[in-house]
Order: sequence, then structure tokens, then C-alpha cells
Amino acid sequence: MRIGVLALQGAFIEHEQVLARLGAEAVEVRLPRDLDGLDGLIIPGGESTTIGKLAVHYQLMEPLREMARTGKAMWGTCAGLIFMAKDVGRDQPLLGLMDVTVERNAFGRQVDSFEANLSIKGVDGDQPFHAIFIRAPLIEAVGKGVEVLARAEKNHRDVIVAARQGNLLVTSFHPELSSDDRFHRYFLQMAKAGLRTA
Ligand code: GLN
Repeated sequence: MRIGVLALQGAFIEHEQVLARLGAEAVEVRLPRDLDGLDGLIIPGGESTTIGKLAVHYQLMEPLREMARTGKAMWGTCAGLIFMAKDVGRDQPLLGLMDVTVERNAFGRQVDSFEANLSIKGVDGDQPFHAIFIRAPLIEAVGKGVEVLARAEKNHRDVIVAARQGNLLVTSFHPELSSDDRFHRYFLQMAKAGLRTA
């Protein structure tokens, strides 16, 4: 399994390390040609405005959209979720693939980063998933074709923090920063399923 990790900015090395641990080949993607022959792609956390600007600069926007359209698995974590969304309520380069409305920095500023134990649909095991949120976005609304996978609590309200739309996956937290690799396994299963339908 060859999985690309968008390596323009942000926490891409941590994703590569988890993929390597799970026996997948991790490929750093900086240019459109790096997408050739990949079975899936992870868009890491970082700063979504910067990632978007660099993606425009390196002419990655259309090739990334095309990759998603062909049914390849794509997973955005944190800034990656923002970059994959249709609507974030402000003007910045977006792939516009995921039918979700996102609020950036929804849990407060850097000092308000937090951790929470979540139960996640489809991610197996009895233990909750220990999720790390860093200046995280939340998903305010999802379209019809989007399945909610996990919720977290904000001001005593449940908000959406993980969702899936067919071959697309988004999480507002950073699974690559916890030692739990169940989310990466889940994504590799999605990439495998994509190969079967391709
Ligand atoms: N706050 C960042 C943004 O809006 C995302 C933070 C992260 O990826 N950890 O792009």
C-alpha cells in the first residue's frame, strides 16, 4: 500500500511514522507528479491557509480534486479537514470536496488545546480513542452523504469532530500524535476498499 502524505507544511512526518509502523509505504507529496501511483493520501494538520496557498502555488489543487474524484481514499486531519471542506466561512483556498461546514479554531486559541477520550464509529476495539486537539476546527454541519463518526463536548454540547463521505475522511484532532494507530488502520482499510472499486 502506497500512501501519500501532503508535505507542504505541518505535521506530515508524524503520519509517515505511523504508516511505516503499520507496514505501508509513505510518500511525501509536494508536486502533482508525486501523486502518481498512490493508493491514498493524508493531508496533515498545520496551518490551513498556508497549506492552501502552497497547494495553489505548486498547482496541486486540481490534481488533488481529481484524485478524490477517482475514488482514492483521502484523509484530512485538523488543517487537512479545513482544506478538504466546502465551506469554512472565510476566503482561503479550499479543495471543497467534503460536504461539511467548518468553524476554524473553534475550541479557542493555542493554550486551549485539549485531549479527550472519544468513541468512534467503525474504529474497533473496546477502548475509547484518546484524541489530541490543537487549535482544532469543529464541523458545524454535514451534508446528506456525510456520516458522522465521532463527537466531542464543547461547552456542554456535543459537536462533530470526525466524519466520512465515501472515500473521504476528516478528523478535527491529530491521531498521528497519539500512540493509538487504530485510526490509521481504519484509513488503510478505506484505501484497500478503494483499490477494489477502482
Ligand atoms: N488552526 C489551524 C487552522 O485553522 C489548524 C490547527 C491544526 O491543524 N492543528 O488551519
